[in-house]
Amino acid sequence: MNLERYSRQMLFAGIGERGQKRLLESSIILIGCGGLGCTIANNLARAGVGRIRIVDKDIVELPDLQRQILFDEEDVKKKLPKARVAVEKLRRINSSIQLEAEVCEAEPKNIENLIEGGHLVLDGTDNMKTRLLINEACIKNKIPWIYGGVFGSTGMSMTVIPEKTPCLTCVFGEFPSFPELGTIPMVNAAPITIASWQTTEALKILVGDENLNPDLVYIDLWPGIFRRITIKRRKDCPTCIERKFELLEAEKQ
Ligand SMILES: [Zn+2]
Repeated sequence: MNLERYSRQMLFAGIGERGQKRLLESSIILIGCGGLGCTIANNLARAGVGRIRIVDKDIVELPDLQRQILFDEEDVKKKLPKARVAVEKLRRINSSIQLEAEVCEAEPKNIENLIEGGHLVLDGTDNMKTRLLINEACIKNKIPWIYGGVFGSTGMSMTVIPEKTPCLTCVFGEFPSFPELGTIPMVNAAPITIASWQTTEALKILVGDENLNPDLVYIDLWPGIFRRITIKRRKDCPTCIERKFELLEAEKQ
């Protein structure tokens, strides 16, 4: 295989030719292809992650164009599903990798099938319920995943490695009460910045770098704030310690 297109990142010591070959053999699942997901898919396809499955049920709408970098006005006019448009655009960017579109929502009944065979799951969703479901499915199936969330000019991210690091339940509890926010305000650099953080963590995991960021990272771009918040694994965490997967089980029935 011609690796010339990856020459710049192979010059980077953290990746090199060995890391590049590992990326090409890697398989990731992206859940949600909006503000976060578009940048995640863009970065990882260009970096040569060998197999990318994109899960999203929505169609492209005009307000998406402010930050969702894989879509354009034609896609809005044609009312096309985001997952399919993303795959089509990414094929033109990198035809040497495998891309799959799943036009559906990640739910208790299908999430374990959707993430099957993946080395890593990336969170491009916009709600806590789906994130907690991803958390349960990934902890249960021992697949690392990377949380990302944005609001206004702020954003957060955390890398979850099953059996090693705290999980999302350790951070937010089993039933976090987040108010229904309606349409979320958004500065376009917020999802693009958090997604870029997520994809850097993703590359590290996929090339086998052990120096992952252990903290919950918080960024507020408008005033220019960057914080790391140390999270401890909860000794009684129902998800990562007791391995009770209530969201997965309850809604399956
Ligand atoms: Zn936990």
